[in-house]
Amino acid sequence: MQYPSKHIEKAVEEISKLPGIGKKTALRLALYLLREEEEDTQALAEALVELRTKTQYCRDCHNFSDAPLCGVCASHRRDRSIICVVENPQDVIAIENTAQYQGLYHVLGGVISPIEGVGPADIKLDSLIQRVIISAAGENPVKEIILALSPTMEGDTTAFYITKKLGPHGTKVSSIARGIPVGGELEYTDEITLGRSIISRTTYNSNGY
Ligand SMILES: [Zn+2]
Repeated sequence: MQYPSKHIEKAVEEISKLPGIGKKTALRLALYLLREEEEDTQALAEALVELRTKTQYCRDCHNFSDAPLCGVCASHRRDRSIICVVENPQDVIAIENTAQYQGLYHVLGGVISPIEGVGPADIKLDSLIQRVIISAAGENPVKEIILALSPTMEGDTTAFYITKKLGPHGTKVSSIARGIPVGGELEYTDEITLGRSIISRTTYNSNGY
């Protein structure tokens, strides 16, 4: 593609690196930004820089946060005896949108996948076990772990690992009800179905859901 300006070319090159955006769409977006008020483009550029420089991970649950401790972990209104284990930050957003859950979270950052070479040490599994063990000595021991993982072989493997590790500590492990379509990811599940599946969770049994 020929561009009238090297600045446009550079913008198209960067924008087209985003998932699902080809060169044509990138060009359309770049030209749109040139037509818009300059301050709108400045605001977008600043938001992107701040996204990368100011977003951090919560030291307890590993969700994205603006401070060392995220809003959920820092809140006194949350039930500290329950931790909902999810794969990604998007899952936390989906569950928060149901307004049906008042406990804490733990974001694994993936699931165990031998095929993709992801082992227990590659995701935040040990820190989950540590959170539960450390809490047992404090004022707010964790009594229940709710697994909200994908109903895939990788999700099941991860659930099995957590149950094995936490079993000896007497922590109750439950799983969100399987109203969620098989293979469907949490973030695409509607809020009512997801909310209901948290309320009607069942005790996890390591032979399957
Ligand atoms: Zn947190």
